[in-house]
Amino acid sequence: MAEQFDVAVIGAGPGGYIAAIRAAQLGFRTACIDDWSTAEGKPAPGGTCTNVGCIPSKALLQSSENYEHAGHAFAEHGIDVGGLSVDVARMLARKDKVVRQNNDGIVYLFKKNKISFFHGIGSFAGGSATEGWQIEVKGPGAATLGAKHVIVATGSKPRALVAGGASVPFDNKLILDNDGALAIPEVPKKLGVIGAGVIGLEMGSVWRRLGAEVTILEALPAFLGAADEQVAKEAWKLFAKQGLAIRLGATITKVTPGKDVGVDYNDAEGGKQSARFDKLIVSIGRVPHTAGLNAGGVGLKLDERGFIAVDDECKTNLANVWAIGDVVRGPMLAHRAEEEGVAVAERIAGGHGHVDFNTVPWVIYTSPEIAWVGQTEQQLRAAGVAYRAGSFPFMANGRARALGDTRGFVKFLADAKTDRILGMHAIGPLVSELIAEGVVAMEFGAATEDIARICHAHPSLSEAVKEAALAVDKRTLNL
Ligand SMILES: Cc1cc2nc3c(=O)[nH]c(=O)nc-3n(C[C@H](O)[C@H](O)[C@H](O)COP(=O)(O)OP(=O)(O)OC[C@H]3O[C@@H](n4cnc5c(N)ncnc54)[C@H](O)[C@@H]3O)c2cc1C
Repeated sequence: MAEQFDVAVIGAGPGGYIAAIRAAQLGFRTACIDDWSTAEGKPAPGGTCTNVGCIPSKALLQSSENYEHAGHAFAEHGIDVGGLSVDVARMLARKDKVVRQNNDGIVYLFKKNKISFFHGIGSFAGGSATEGWQIEVKGPGAATLGAKHVIVATGSKPRALVAGGASVPFDNKLILDNDGALAIPEVPKKLGVIGAGVIGLEMGSVWRRLGAEVTILEALPAFLGAADEQVAKEAWKLFAKQGLAIRLGATITKVTPGKDVGVDYNDAEGGKQSARFDKLIVSIGRVPHTAGLNAGGVGLKLDERGFIAVDDECKTNLANVWAIGDVVRGPMLAHRAEEEGVAVAERIAGGHGHVDFNTVPWVIYTSPEIAWVGQTEQQLRAAGVAYRAGSFPFMANGRARALGDTRGFVKFLADAKTDRILGMHAIGPLVSELIAEGVVAMEFGAATEDIARICHAHPSLSEAVKEAALAVDKRTLNL
């Protein structure tokens, strides 16, 4: 007879493994199924985020930034580094080690929380809300499970490029997806990146710092359209200074792999251009991953873009079947997936889990980092909202000067009448950490006056947050 569970989670990415932990904490008998394997065939829970996304990209961003600092920034501190060189193989091995530590951490958490883990592909084998759902696991952990509730957290996969009507398949030798982009065995002389989104900018930054000549081709006419326009403008200026060549409005017409990769494209003015690259990273977005689930077999509804259709509470069209994370609508971010996982487990337990998309922070881990939460200035203008803005440059922050990184600023947008914070936008050192203050403030319905009256440690980068709040009322103290 099939082993019975209260909750079965399909997928152990940040959405799935966190949902499983919360369900187990709430007292449910919980199973989690995931098919990701190491090169040796061992389970590698953690999904895209741990294996080929957030974690390895940040490991390489740190390594490459260390290299850049040693080559360019240390001298100013009176530290001379002779014979500087980079060993890409060792750098990649460190990145792999960081990934394995995270995989092992999740295996430990499953054991600690008494979650039954099944290594393999999970698919619906039948069932209903009244009799429960049957899940078949194919692979090393083959089994048949019964579950009262199923949480689908099967994530996403990279979108392949279509050029001139023809699909350009990834081979991960010349034409790379995010997996290949994180494992280039030696620094390419010329690297092409299609797509100037978060992944394209982060990957482009890694390989530029290590010595590649990087060209990013972006189809859209505007740079970082989702970010606040003042931040995007500053980022454009700083990235250009670093030598990242970003071409906007580029339509790719042909990709020709051979010894290297030829790329033909029309530029923003419609002129025909061509370029040759040693490697080409394609980072033009991601698509939901539902293959293998047998969604059609049980009538699990997908929307017109292939995402599992869910309501605001992550309920699918099937009773007691839920879906979270990249496989459903919403920002493709690990922390959004995690929050949905917690919220769904709590709803199953009869609670009222809630995820507010307006307070989900966005971070781009370039140098300088970019982070924001809430509305941008252009969104507020378009919505006709009366607002006040205040910003403060890191140039005037003592800690930033001591760090040797005074690029960028922090900016608040607040309701003109009530002063309630509507958005926080930042570009500069460690703003990935500073943005949490904006998120907390918005969750508590704070005004910029609240931030302005809170004591911030000195000297710290967080003082720039306080000063930006003061700037909304035109009373900065250090500018
Ligand atoms: C290069 C890169 C960098 C990124 N950096 C960041 C970042 O810094 N911050 C951030 O917030 N987000 C980042 N992301 C996005 C983030 O990785 C995703 O939003 C996140 O992983 C989504 O989590 P998830 O749990 O929904 O799905 P996933 O992480 O994709 O996990 C889904 C899991 O389910 C498994 N699976 C699929 N189908 C089945 C099946 N039928 N049976 C069993 N298992 C199955 C998959 O193999 C996978 O292990 C990055 C992404 C990439 C590619």
